[in-house]
Amino acid sequence: MQGLVIKSTGSWYQVYAEDGQTYDCRIKGKFRIKGIQTTNPIAVGDKVEFELEPNAETGVIDKLHDRKNYIIRKSINLSKQAQIIAANLDQAFLIVTLASPRTSLGFIDRFLVTSEAYDIPTSLVFNKLDLFSPRGLEILAEYKAIYENIGYPCYEVSALKGTNVDQIKDLLKDKTTLFSGHSGVGKSSLINAILPGFDIKTGEVSEWSDKGQHTTTFAEMHALPFGGYLIDTPGIRELGIVDIEKEELSHFFVEMRDRLNQCRFNNCRHINEPGCAVIKAVEEGEIEPSRYESYLSIYHGNDTRA
Ligand code: GDP
Ligand code: ZN
Repeated sequence: MQGLVIKSTGSWYQVYAEDGQTYDCRIKGKFRIKGIQTTNPIAVGDKVEFELEPNAETGVIDKLHDRKNYIIRKSINLSKQAQIIAANLDQAFLIVTLASPRTSLGFIDRFLVTSEAYDIPTSLVFNKLDLFSPRGLEILAEYKAIYENIGYPCYEVSALKGTNVDQIKDLLKDKTTLFSGHSGVGKSSLINAILPGFDIKTGEVSEWSDKGQHTTTFAEMHALPFGGYLIDTPGIRELGIVDIEKEELSHFFVEMRDRLNQCRFNNCRHINEPGCAVIKAVEEGEIEPSRYESYLSIYHGNDTRA
């Protein structure tokens, strides 16, 4: 039977099958991504085939369909391995705020590099609109302009007041959407506003245990009553960039990408090289200084969690 993996615990996978039933399945055989070692072979969003076991309640997954895309993160305790968080995403929404706690531009840019690398169209959702002072609204307009100008749709909402939540709902319909954002931005509140009565627990979830150890967290996939799926990643603050080489980084800054072949040197790092088209564009105001700073900071490995 064919189905969609909607939950994963590491050893068992919940599969929503073509007959409309949900089955607990195990895996038979090896499923590998070329060049990457993963702790889990299959993740939510995967399309699989499974054999129903004689009890007609559980199944064995024996085939994984090709993935359109997937997101992974480094597994901290097993340094060479990565965890697949989710697969076959249509889009990602990064929930951010400018108020308590303010999301840094560096955080947004790191997320966008990741979603470009994974080929996932991404939108920014500015939450807590109700808290913005007139000055705050000016800063919001500046932030939105930075990202809209380079092609990332931006939305402003208040999960608390319900402002523009219907607009987000419309965008989710019949799509598989990843919701991400650092804790405190109101991601759970927004999910609750989208799915009233669903009652996702709001509050802080830590990616780190008291002992400073990495706790295992899995993505959750929620079927939307109006069509589509929402993938939540509780406790995952940031998606890791697992396999991006420094030399490739500029390709994941959309506004740099088109200029790269205009640099004088084809191995230009866009740091201090003469004839660099990226630096020229920054100087001429065509590339936002904050975006270029994020580029340098990721390039130099200063991308501390913010
Ligand atoms: P999460 O960590 O991203 O899931 O954030 P939560 O949904 O738990 O929200 C964190 C805090 O922000 C809670 O105290 C919420 O009540 C508050 N919050 C969430 N959305 C809004 C909003 O739109 N406006 C205001 N004023 N507070 C909000
Ligand atoms: Zn250059």
